[in-house]
Amino acid sequence: MKNAALFIVDVQNDFLPGGALAVPRGDEVIAPINRLQEKFELVLASKDWHPATTKHFEKWPPHCIRGTYGAKFPESLNISSIQKVFLKGTGVSDDGYSAFEATNDDLESYLKIRGISKLYVVGLATDYCVLATAVKAAENGFEVYVVKDAVRAVNLQPGDEDKAFEKMKQNGVQIISLEEV
Ligand SMILES: [Zn+2]
Repeated sequence: MKNAALFIVDVQNDFLPGGALAVPRGDEVIAPINRLQEKFELVLASKDWHPATTKHFEKWPPHCIRGTYGAKFPESLNISSIQKVFLKGTGVSDDGYSAFEATNDDLESYLKIRGISKLYVVGLATDYCVLATAVKAAENGFEVYVVKDAVRAVNLQPGDEDKAFEKMKQNGVQIISLEEV
């Protein structure tokens, strides 16, 4: 697809069933994400990449501590096409919900330099990092699509998933199905 990139948010062991901060049915995103990758010339990903001690862990159980198993991509995710991984939440106080907060590279300029105008966002979790990344991408002027079959929500409160989709739409993000990509 021309001028488009697939962006895989935080598909990491700790967010999958059995992980430190498991997203219910989070593993269900992997098969569709593997399928989607072949449609894109540019595939990018983000990782939650926290230090062992951070204010972020006052809100959440410790997860995705850099260098640990929990921070790794799962074996079942095809990572051969991922050209760059953006690391976020790397400081001792930042949440790093949005991939645009990555500290190892600037995502906005990375995309603009390469002429990317459309961003297809997939991964975990719908109501936190997918939401923050998609909304920020729209604010930054990208045409943004979230593929609903390839995202899953935490749903700390019932309805958080629906609220997240609503907030995305209000910000100009389009919610589409796998078949519509
Ligand atoms: Zn985190």
